Amino acid sequence: MTAGHTTFPDLARDVRADFPILAADLDGKPLVYLDNAATTHIPHQVLDAIRAFYGNDNSNVGRGVHTLGMRATGRLMRSRERVRAFLNAADAGEVVFTKSATESLNLVARGFGTQVVSAGDEVLISGLEHHSNLLPWRRLCAETGAVLRIAAVDEHGELSPDSFRAQITERTRLIAVAHVSNVQGTVNPVREIAAEAHRHGVLVVVDGAQAVAHRTVDVRDLDADFYGFSAHKMYGPQGTGVLYGKAEHLDRMEPLHLGGGMTPIATYEDGPVGARPPLKFEAGSPNVAGMVGIAAAMDYLDGLGRDAVGAHDSALAAQAVEGLRALDGVTVYGAQEPRGGIVSFNVDGVSPHDVGGHLNASGIATRTGAHCAFPFISGLGIEGSVRASFGVYNTPEEVESFIKALSALEKG
Ligand code: PMP
Repeated sequence: MTAGHTTFPDLARDVRADFPILAADLDGKPLVYLDNAATTHIPHQVLDAIRAFYGNDNSNVGRGVHTLGMRATGRLMRSRERVRAFLNAADAGEVVFTKSATESLNLVARGFGTQVVSAGDEVLISGLEHHSNLLPWRRLCAETGAVLRIAAVDEHGELSPDSFRAQITERTRLIAVAHVSNVQGTVNPVREIAAEAHRHGVLVVVDGAQAVAHRTVDVRDLDADFYGFSAHKMYGPQGTGVLYGKAEHLDRMEPLHLGGGMTPIATYEDGPVGARPPLKFEAGSPNVAGMVGIAAAMDYLDGLGRDAVGAHDSALAAQAVEGLRALDGVTVYGAQEPRGGIVSFNVDGVSPHDVGGHLNASGIATRTGAHCAFPFISGLGIEGSVRASFGVYNTPEEVESFIKALSALEKG
């Protein structure tokens, strides 16, 4: 990685050597990895940080007074502070470590939703949500007798603040919305949605899974009440995630799990467990190496410049859209430009699965299917799509190879 050399298309050329997996060749073909919305690869800087933790500092945290225990605890605290700075949260106590975006969203729905939603109230989500930001709310509504309302998307599968405005009623308690769509890369106006929601006293939960690797996220500027994401989509390790929550909300929220580490004292009598955020939500021995990995991924992204990375990914998406539109019989979904580094499309008469298989035969990895967004995909009148999603190491030449491989499918 060359610091400061971060303009498109040089960024990818500068960073490719950071990613050991990109050197792998698959059955004699170089890997063209266009499935970054599912999982990004890990640079050696992050791998090294995880290895250094296990090699030098490995111990359980918050328990022992021995040197390694204190070192590991320090690493965890520094990682939490790193996430705070990455999100511009007011306090490290507003950063909860989870195992994924999914766990973050479930924690809010179960631990907080049940505190603020009652029978007859409404929870509002958008019509383009991932199942992880749909099913926890559906269950919350079923269990509390609340109503799940959906802010419809337009004919391009996109949202406007107006569609939310139209759905907010005096019974709305919570809004849950994706920052960026995982199907077609649409960037949603979450800041405007939050401002409108707050005018009505409604709280906003943002699913940032597809946003954090592609743009600067400032939770105070967005004024999100909660913001959840996974690290494995932002060059960090699998099995790690974050939930940001405003301190006043975390104070009210109930934990999903109870156990060691969250509180120094427990009794046999029933009653509140006197734990404080964020440890209140992190019962059990934590994934310290994962947290160290998240912090290292944040250092890596910030070293490149998050907005520069986002501009790079969006430029590749625009190049892909242009190439796809020039092919006969290809439908590209979504109209927004620039989009957040994700493109969904279909080829007439060929199933997404077969298109994905054809691309894979040329060493090109894409995702096919309904992308865990079944209602949204059904609303587009399709059963699935092919999704190409871009990351910091992808190059314009790779996009050309992808379009070329598709044009061969067309001709064949
Ligand atoms: N929300 C969105 C928008 C996503 O793209 C994903 C991952 N596909 C998730 C939530 C869930 O992320 P995870 O599987 O890492 O929990």
